[in-house]
Amino acid sequence: MKKALFVLLVSLTIFSCNSRQKVYDLLEDSSKWTGEEEIVFEDQGLSINGEYKTIVYNPGLFQTFENFELIAEIKTSPGASAEIAFHTKKRDPEMGYKVRIDNSETGNWDKLLKTGSLSAIRNVSYNMLNDDEWFELKIRVVENHISIFINNHPVVSYIEPAIAFRTAEYEKRKIGSGTFSILSLYENSNLLIRKLTVEKLATDEKQKNSDTDYARQITMLNIRNFPICDYHVHIKEDLTMDAALNYSAGLGINYGIAANCGLKFPVQNDEELEAYLNSIHGLPIFKAMQAEGREWVNMFSPELIAGFDYAFTDAMTWTNNNGTRMRLWIPEETEVGDPEDFMEQLVAQIELIATEPISIYVNPTYLPAEIADRYEELWTDERIDRVIKALKENNIALEINSRFKLPGKRFIARAQEEGVKFAMGTNNTTAESLGRLDWSLEMIHEFNIQASEMFLPGLN
Ligand SMILES: [Zn+2]
Repeated sequence: MKKALFVLLVSLTIFSCNSRQKVYDLLEDSSKWTGEEEIVFEDQGLSINGEYKTIVYNPGLFQTFENFELIAEIKTSPGASAEIAFHTKKRDPEMGYKVRIDNSETGNWDKLLKTGSLSAIRNVSYNMLNDDEWFELKIRVVENHISIFINNHPVVSYIEPAIAFRTAEYEKRKIGSGTFSILSLYENSNLLIRKLTVEKLATDEKQKNSDTDYARQITMLNIRNFPICDYHVHIKEDLTMDAALNYSAGLGINYGIAANCGLKFPVQNDEELEAYLNSIHGLPIFKAMQAEGREWVNMFSPELIAGFDYAFTDAMTWTNNNGTRMRLWIPEETEVGDPEDFMEQLVAQIELIATEPISIYVNPTYLPAEIADRYEELWTDERIDRVIKALKENNIALEINSRFKLPGKRFIARAQEEGVKFAMGTNNTTAESLGRLDWSLEMIHEFNIQASEMFLPGLN
């Protein structure tokens, strides 16, 4: 009876405390911030400078933040890199999670983590923002569920499992309670924060992370600075952009979303390509162009192509020696004839394709249905080596495709030996076929592929 009353009182207290949902303006009183550096408030807001300089917000005696929604309006100068920590403690800065702010160009392994990353746990490697422009960062924590939004787009939705995998270095990146701090990571960098408010939120039920093995695998890779990206996603059939962004945030897989561009494909000229680029402006994705057929090289202007993070193509659309333009996944359009002759033509096509201005060769080594069951026999070592040589010479990455489970393992092994970079991709046709990069991730583990062996947009 006594125990029941106590529980009731405690829950009433929690309820009454949180129902007020007070909003704290963290920039209202500069004296609440302390650090080894002088705290600088400029006209435009709080200014963050320097290298490994931390400032901490002191909320006052017995005051702590647990469930909350933080909203920050931030502007970075070129080179700026910082982290906002939550559930941290002044006396223990390692405590709590950190959210990265970095709008630098992609292609630098030292600056792999971009704005919106839940650092080391759910990284973001695309860059959706520009320096010198204000943006809004929202961090929402309700019990074990952390959501991060940039300009209201979902970027991270992470449910901390009951037993969360952490290495010793990151063992304190866990849900708890505490205050906020800001850590500046680079010298000669500067960012401004003109708004920083925190609303306390009510307690709620903890969420169940129903797939702890998957969460563990993704966390392990993030801790290793391994870019987890599906570079080959299409908004198609029942998959909407909104749904894709939510999958990406929830699964911890960055998406490269590609338009299909080429003769007899959805995007056929500069006007359509520009309209597409505008339609994805500011979204939390890599902007990708799938170049189709061999005519594409002359169909789009290089300036527009340069607006994408990368372009890729496959060897599924080409014209054979008889003059038949084939799309290999459509049996009615495909002439195989003598399989050996077909293979010679295919390999020659891939060698040609490798000279196109692309970054990734996708759906690699795909064979039409008619001869697909002879894959191991027709992809001889000699043919494999010719393709790998072409990729290497032209600095083109090889997709490990989860949907087709291509290329075969002999091909992956040879590519790894030769130092060809790898990129994970799906090439979904529907929402359901998008999956979770299962096979690509399996190959990454099987071949012990390291982050440095992976493709990174912008890296040459
Ligand atoms: Zn595709």
